[in-house]
Amino acid sequence: MSELLSTWTDGLIRGIPRVPRCEKCGLWNWYPQPSCRSCQVSEFTWHDIGAEGVVHTWTEVMRAIDSVDGLEPPYVVALVEPVRTPGVRIPMRARRGIGIGDRVAFEPISTPLGPVLEISSTGLLT
Ligand SMILES: [Zn+2]
Repeated sequence: MSELLSTWTDGLIRGIPRVPRCEKCGLWNWYPQPSCRSCQVSEFTWHDIGAEGVVHTWTEVMRAIDSVDGLEPPYVVALVEPVRTPGVRIPMRARRGIGIGDRVAFEPISTPLGPVLEISSTGLLT
């Protein structure tokens, strides 16, 4: 696993999802990359993204690419924009009934493939 991905995964394991922000221009760089997508500087600070966001889009996976125990389809995946990181859209496990524009709370969970984020509740959040 790359160092960039392990920083993300370590944050999930500790219960603090974080994404990198460029030290020079302030752009959130998601997915993590060795240099900034805007200014190519390689200095980042990782920031806690909090636990709330807005659903950008979602889909229901009906057929698996690989067979993984505990992750059998069908299941729902959403792209969520955390409130603290405008423009960043992170894939998360979700439940049926989720809608585009829904305010959601999310949390790290453990899966057979490693830690991921999952939407834990929807509705009006603080
Ligand atoms: Zn930059």
